[in-house]
Amino acid sequence: MLIVEPLRDSWAREIKSVRVSVTDKCNFRCTYCMPAEGLPWLAREEILTFEEIERLVRILAQLGVDEVRLTGGEPLVRRDLPVLVGMLARVDGVQDLSLTTNGVLLDRYAAPLVAAGLRRINVSLDTLNHVRFAEIARRDALDAVLRGLEAAEQYPELRPIKLNCVAVKGFTETEVPALAELARRKPYVVRFIEFMPLDADEVWREDDVLTGGEIRAIVEEHYGPLVELPAKQSSTARRFRFADGAGELGFVNPVSEPFCSSCDRIRLTADGQLRTCLFSRREWDLKQPLRGGASDQELVDLIRFAVRHKELKHKINDPGFARASRSMSQIGG
Ligand code: SAM
Repeated sequence: MLIVEPLRDSWAREIKSVRVSVTDKCNFRCTYCMPAEGLPWLAREEILTFEEIERLVRILAQLGVDEVRLTGGEPLVRRDLPVLVGMLARVDGVQDLSLTTNGVLLDRYAAPLVAAGLRRINVSLDTLNHVRFAEIARRDALDAVLRGLEAAEQYPELRPIKLNCVAVKGFTETEVPALAELARRKPYVVRFIEFMPLDADEVWREDDVLTGGEIRAIVEEHYGPLVELPAKQSSTARRFRFADGAGELGFVNPVSEPFCSSCDRIRLTADGQLRTCLFSRREWDLKQPLRGGASDQELVDLIRFAVRHKELKHKINDPGFARASRSMSQIGG
């Protein structure tokens, strides 16, 4: 049997997970992510083809990466996404294939995605109030997202369904009780993610972060103490259940409780750049070698080299913090 040296960074963290962005375009304009007018989109020829993505995922899988999450921009605006899902579901070694979406096109795509082999989904949802939804996403699309979630629910093979809510101070506090109630009523794990300095408008300030601890206190005011559940070591979220057993919440606290020491992730942008941290200021170009005839071994060497340079940690809380070289929708969240 061929023994392959695992993909390890210089801090002995093993890389097991890749987030693959399939487009930088999005049909929402969430205030914490993108400007109202959008961003200059990548030209079509800049974007990796499905075959190029599949090749890189296959190489990564051979190096021990077993978790692949498709993201964007909004991944469902990429034409024929279920075809890519089918291609990646067949890659040897990919054990966990998931998708992060804003959900607005999910009612149309849930069936073909499941048929293609998707087994897990994360849907972004910041509020259950129509007016507030339009305020934060700059689109009146709550009903479409809820229809998308109902469609996903029809497929028991698509579990867990996770809802991601970006927690912004002065906005999210009032939304927490309804979102917590949703986690109790529906088979959805509702996760609150601290607002990070990855917004293209660069308006993020430390004071805008509503921490997981603050949200937990709001929930506990309504429902009493939450009970912490065990989580995978590499998990980004702390998991909790309600004391009466109905429903699960997650808290992703990158600002107040950084989890870099157990980070096992790398990212591939839509234009084929490998990023070793959300907050990287440098990227490793895989597209050019890929298109220039590089062998698998040459790509492996490049990937290993990049991973050896994976950042120890993000520096959001350090003096002189410098923002990442691109914003969230351009990286792939
Ligand atoms: N369009 C898809 C979606 O809405 O899920 C996938 C891409 S989106 C960039 C991925 C995740 O990043 C979403 O859950 C989104 O809410 C989150 N996100 C965007 N900007 C963020 C920020 N500044 N801080 C924290 N999370 C952010």
